[in-house]
Amino acid sequence: MTQPAEPDAAREHAPTRVLVVDDSTIVRKIIVGYLRAAGHQVGEAQDGAEALAQLGTDRFDVVLTDLQMPVLDGFGLLDGIRARSLDMEVIILTGSEDLESAVRALRSGAHDFLRKPPSGALEVVLTVERAAEKKRLRETNLRLMRELDALSRRDALTGVFNRRVFDETLLAETTRSRRYLLALSLVLLDLDHFKAINDRHGHPAGDAVLQLFAGIARAQTRDGDTLCRYGGEEFTVLLAHTPLEGAMDVARRLVASTAKAPFVVGEASVAVTVSAGVASLHPSDENGQAMLAAADAALYEAKRAGRNQARPAPVKP
Ligand code: GH3
Ligand code: MG
Ligand code: MG
Repeated sequence: MTQPAEPDAAREHAPTRVLVVDDSTIVRKIIVGYLRAAGHQVGEAQDGAEALAQLGTDRFDVVLTDLQMPVLDGFGLLDGIRARSLDMEVIILTGSEDLESAVRALRSGAHDFLRKPPSGALEVVLTVERAAEKKRLRETNLRLMRELDALSRRDALTGVFNRRVFDETLLAETTRSRRYLLALSLVLLDLDHFKAINDRHGHPAGDAVLQLFAGIARAQTRDGDTLCRYGGEEFTVLLAHTPLEGAMDVARRLVASTAKAPFVVGEASVAVTVSAGVASLHPSDENGQAMLAAADAALYEAKRAGRNQARPAPVKP
């Protein structure tokens, strides 16, 4: 997990990369001069086509562009940026007699416009920096949303997927499995006598055992398997493309590696075992609930038979 974002004001950000597009060399030189003096990295292009070529190879945060240019005009450039889904802010350079075009450009996705000739360095630099700030905020928001989404899918204690992901994945995988006639199996795991571990060593020690167990389960499962904390001391492993026998192998491995793993919590070494119930999706199952119930019944059998073992659900005819 990455660290939460610092407030933007406190963060040193990279210099803004600006592309100045104008067929007038004089206008270009003036604007480029203003921006370089303010410490920004500036590129130049003399029409929309040249600009698009540069945007294809170099990254820019802000594009300042004239509207009327030979080869490809400012509107063509705006279209090209949108068509390529390039993330940048566009500022239009417009003659003061042509506000109508500027408004049209704003409607086509431009961020702002500047009158030509610009009144001075300050106006140009401030407008570009405001545009760059808008882009940075958008990037920060996107990153925070991704982090939040990733967090909302994880169990806070163990870091494995949570119940919500289990429910979603069960639905998605049963649908896929039914459509393409693929095997799908479920291993339901429940730590043995976990209440006694809590009672004897304390709740924080119980938490640590859950974390250690999650680490073992992670190590014993593959990337394509979905390991979730189903609740309390119960975990699930959903195994796509895996028939019952394959899932039983996984379950036995999990049971065996848990029994022989050292669970050292503080000063104490805790003996931990786990029981597992295993079931597969039957072609007649309309959803995953029958498989879940069958795995639960098999888990109950494993507990009744003395725990520390894996049991398969009876195979339906
Ligand atoms: P069995 O072998 O039959 O599964 O017995 P058990 O004691 O494991 O089963 P039981 O369902 O009676 O107890 C589960 C215990 O797990 C009770 C509950 O307090 C504890 N538990 C649930 N969630 C957590 C947790 O997040 N942290 C800790 N430390 N304990 C938890
Ligand atoms: Mg339980
Ligand atoms: Mg238990």
